[in-house]
Amino acid sequence: MRKFLIAGNWKMNLDRAESVDLVSKITAKIPSPCPVEISVIPTFLHIEAVKDALGAAAVQLGAQNVYFEKKGAFTGEVSVAMLRDMGVKYVLAGHSERRHILGETDEITGKKAQAIVTGGLSLILCVGETLEQRQSFKTVEVVGRQLDAGLAHVAAANAESGHLVIAYEPVWAIGTGLTATPAQAQEVHAFIRTKLAEKYGQDTAQSIRIQYGGSAKKSNAAELLAQVDIDGLLIGGASLMAEEFIGIVQAAVAAQPGH
Ligand code: PEP
Repeated sequence: MRKFLIAGNWKMNLDRAESVDLVSKITAKIPSPCPVEISVIPTFLHIEAVKDALGAAAVQLGAQNVYFEKKGAFTGEVSVAMLRDMGVKYVLAGHSERRHILGETDEITGKKAQAIVTGGLSLILCVGETLEQRQSFKTVEVVGRQLDAGLAHVAAANAESGHLVIAYEPVWAIGTGLTATPAQAQEVHAFIRTKLAEKYGQDTAQSIRIQYGGSAKKSNAAELLAQVDIDGLLIGGASLMAEEFIGIVQAAVAAQPGH
């Protein structure tokens, strides 16, 4: 059984007070004990305030980005050690906005992935095709290439220890209101698990969680989470609204026993 991971990527949204307010609304509604894992991923600037607001709640802190070097003259960047020091558990790498807006390459993503897992944090490696790539039947080729590069320096030991999560996020579904159908998502998730099995072996591949991301919301969470290879959701827009995010967590809690 893989425990669902429900993670809210707040991106460059919410001020400090709004972040703390959202946390208090979420934590008030989390079942205790919680059968699924929950993470919130604020801007770097609010990690500490969110950490304080979370207190002892069963919600993990995440970070949206990191630099791959350990320390030094890298103006504006943040290291894995700095995030670890702040109590962060999950770190995103390869998010489509980093790839397509900030110009991050497969190679940079691979270096970040390596830094995250060797630094003792958990990697959420995001992969996904554009609409054009899907329409020209290149989904498998693109996702396969992103996985190969992103995991090039992620050793089996890191994958086995639970420090690796993959997020399949079709670019055409992110922030657009278009969601992959459960069948479309499952098809790519199954392919990802096959690739993980080739690299890390069947047992490890079965233990790695593969999240879906792309306009996930309360109303479609249950049908996505019902798919055999969908092990959680990475949520952008809907994670900014307490009622939506809590609704998604509740859908995951309901679906967990059969997963
Ligand atoms: C994301 O950016 O990771 C994401 C899934 O965004 P949204 O839910 O808004 O599509």
